[in-house]
Amino acid sequence: MRPLREYFNTWLLLELLRGMAITGRSMFKPKVTVQYPEEKTPLSPRFRGLHALRRYPNGEERCIACKLCEAICPAMCITIDSEENSDGTRRTTRYDIDLFKCIYCGFCEEACPTDAIVMTRYFEFHMEERNEAVINKQRLLALGDKFEQQIAMDRTQDANYR
Ligand code: SF4
Ligand code: SF4
Repeated sequence: MRPLREYFNTWLLLELLRGMAITGRSMFKPKVTVQYPEEKTPLSPRFRGLHALRRYPNGEERCIACKLCEAICPAMCITIDSEENSDGTRRTTRYDIDLFKCIYCGFCEEACPTDAIVMTRYFEFHMEERNEAVINKQRLLALGDKFEQQIAMDRTQDANYR
């Protein structure tokens, strides 16, 4: 019986017609395709994109070189060197993140007591050289300066959700 049904299905083009019926129904449904990159989908304030180091409004670095982020990072991709300043504060002399190793888990930003290391919404980045995969302190601070407004806004929004 089954071979006979398959035979009629094939010659009467029933499967093709069924497929066309599905296509026809879909034609009148609202479109969900987004024309990226011209159109963007909304991002959550908790989105975990590229990292950044933040400063206080007076320009002082938030990072106090406590190394909690380095200790908690499961991928062991953060490397910090630090020294004590003349005023007794501790600051990093080196803050590297190896983006090839990073799994974008967000633990570093969760662990940070001063809200210094954060994950921005910026995800459209690329590398052309291998050494660009290690993002250093200067680049992280520059990213923090660039996206500070968005980062601060996301933090306020996120606090309202909790
Ligand atoms: S996001 Fe996760 S893996 Fe990446 S640097 Fe932070 S703690 Fe490490
Ligand atoms: S980024 Fe935050 S957790 Fe990491 S060393 Fe600086 S202050 Fe400590």
